Amino acid sequence: MIKLDNINKSYVNGTSLHVLKGLNLRIEKGEFVAIMGASGSGKSTLLNILGILDTYDTGTYYLNDILIKDLSEKVAAEYRNRLIGFVFQSFNLISFKTAVENVALPLYYQGVGRKKRNEIAMEYLDKMGIADWADHLPSEMSGGQKQRVAIARSLVTSPQVILADEPTGALDSTTSIEVMEILKSVNREGMTIVMVTHDPDMAAMAQKIIRIKDGIIGSIEKV
Ligand code: ADP
Ligand code: MG
Repeated sequence: MIKLDNINKSYVNGTSLHVLKGLNLRIEKGEFVAIMGASGSGKSTLLNILGILDTYDTGTYYLNDILIKDLSEKVAAEYRNRLIGFVFQSFNLISFKTAVENVALPLYYQGVGRKKRNEIAMEYLDKMGIADWADHLPSEMSGGQKQRVAIARSLVTSPQVILADEPTGALDSTTSIEVMEILKSVNREGMTIVMVTHDPDMAAMAQKIIRIKDGIIGSIEKV
């Protein structure tokens, strides 16, 4: 479902930094993969390309047989909304919106009416075990609760893949394991998950560990 061939990506500002150097990657539907690599190795760069948040210089990226290349910002935004769910280390919730409003937001952008989108958002909050927190603001919740809201938001549009960049990076170890258990149960229901982490304990909870080294995939290891 994810097919990257010979992806090159450089950052140019004054000098040029060649980050991805002909990277090839396949991720199948239903997989839960962890991407690891040294700091600065290009993990976030790769995830941003997968999430259509950033472009690449040469190569091809197919997501579900759709070529993700040279898209207008409008089409990129539409694909992001429809195909991809994001989970970030810092949760990226909107601080002045309640949990249920945060979860419903991607549906608002799809033109779903208020009643319907709140109904669907409540279903996902319930699935995450935090329906009681629906009317609370992010500032009133713990880190683990905020990440549950963010995971509910990532799922609410029934995307093709969840991309998670250090989803446990801001959480203590007990909460990290709880969040990983949630991601695993989401994966068991068939969701494809690509997670960047530098924590070997978290990576070991995925099915496969993909290591980036020197701008390409250095190794792939089944857990
Ligand atoms: P990782 O997530 O593995 O730590 P990144 O993908 O964030 O690595 O970054 C890879 C390299 O590219 C780093 O050297 C980083 O400093 C550089 N880099 C990342 N984003 C940019 C940017 N927007 N402009 C310039 N350099 C960048
Ligand atoms: Mg990073």
